[in-house]
Amino acid sequence: MNPGTEKPHYRAWFESLDDSEERYGLDEIVYTDRNGGLLQVVHDMEELKKSSAAEWKSLFASRRGGSQWPYGSGVWCMKEWILPEIHSDNVVSMYEGNTNLFWAERFGRELGVEDLWLKLCGNSHTGSFKDLGMTVLVSMVKELIERGEDIPAVACASTGDTSAALAAYAAAAGIPSVVFLPKGKISMAQLIQPVANGAMVFALDTDFDGCMELVRQVAEKDGVYLANSMNSLRVEGQKTIAIEIVQQFEWEVPDWLVIPGGNLGNVSALAKGLDMMFEMGLINRRPRICLAQAESANPLYLSYLKDFEVFEPIAARATVASAIQIGNPVSVKKAIDALRRYDGVVEQASEAEIMEACARADRTGLFNCPHTGVAIAATTKLVERGLIKSSDRVVVISTAHGLKFVDFKLNYHNMTVADMVPDHPNPPIELPADYQQVRDRMLSEIDRRAKT
Ligand SMILES: *Cc1c(COP(=O)(O)O)cnc(C)c1O
Repeated sequence: MNPGTEKPHYRAWFESLDDSEERYGLDEIVYTDRNGGLLQVVHDMEELKKSSAAEWKSLFASRRGGSQWPYGSGVWCMKEWILPEIHSDNVVSMYEGNTNLFWAERFGRELGVEDLWLKLCGNSHTGSFKDLGMTVLVSMVKELIERGEDIPAVACASTGDTSAALAAYAAAAGIPSVVFLPKGKISMAQLIQPVANGAMVFALDTDFDGCMELVRQVAEKDGVYLANSMNSLRVEGQKTIAIEIVQQFEWEVPDWLVIPGGNLGNVSALAKGLDMMFEMGLINRRPRICLAQAESANPLYLSYLKDFEVFEPIAARATVASAIQIGNPVSVKKAIDALRRYDGVVEQASEAEIMEACARADRTGLFNCPHTGVAIAATTKLVERGLIKSSDRVVVISTAHGLKFVDFKLNYHNMTVADMVPDHPNPPIELPADYQQVRDRMLSEIDRRAKT
């Protein structure tokens, strides 16, 4: 059998996490099971297994990065594993995925981990990994609309990056989009993205969790299609992060994956990608996963301290890692299951630790968003505790492009962060345009910097 030609018999469906008998078609507009629990997308694995692991590997590799629609995309090169039944004409893709795996050689050496990598998921159309899930969700919506389904708009609550991705993909497909943002809690770049893409943008006097509550209501009462990660179609796209990383390492599994988490959809997706590769025989061992949270928004960390026996939502406090300022994560159950399967650890980072981690890594050529900073700070702690060994291969999931979050870097380098004296500030040097003065200062700086 040749999986290279599209075969309609690959199937996938929504299934209740608690009851495998409760199933829905992926083309049904349903977000939760009868008891309000999350759904998951389940694939007909028996059908997929009719091709060998080697066949799947070579199929993905042959498509990735190519120009045959829609298979060049890092998501759609694995179409049979994602949304097998969608018509390729309805795929809304921006060639997402295929992101750089950055070997952080110099930074790794400083930390004492030689094999340290950052998966730069933010090197993507809207600057965050949210593109990976949104291509799947918006493609499904386009297919539904093509079939005559009455969907007035697609909507999401967002800490900034989801709305940017939704707005862009919806705009490309000509589908109206609505986004609910917590006013004043997202970056300028994140705000202007959906504005520019023509989404209907509501800036509301609440936090993310408040926006989420509202979007659930308009989805339920007014028929708009819900684009948040409680819609498990997004997880299907995001799970390609794991598969892409492993493919980039010639199908070798790293020892550790470190990922920042807020609503906890992405860590669930990461584990799902690994599960699927494991079940299909593309890999034969499991990495460990560290989920990293900001101390200001750490409900999963608190639960981890109690072996996940209890989970209590919290009111998340402000953090520079604004995309993970979430106190009541939608995908907590999936995330805890995922961490249990992958011998998981949860770590947290304070505001100062996040900013210092970014600054330190930036000095080695990276340009990290604060969420990536949370993961780097967590990595540092695991190295110090000896959990991550110097010979381990570690991959930090960098979730957004640093250029979306420049304010905190400006504050850090200009030394205007309240109650904090930065370790590595590098403010611009302001001088008159005078050769002698500039030269003297330049030479003294070269001298000073050589010593530190
Ligand atoms: C959404 C987002 C996260 C958190 O992902 P979850 O799936 O909500 O845990 C982390 N970093 C960035 C930049 C994000 O946009």
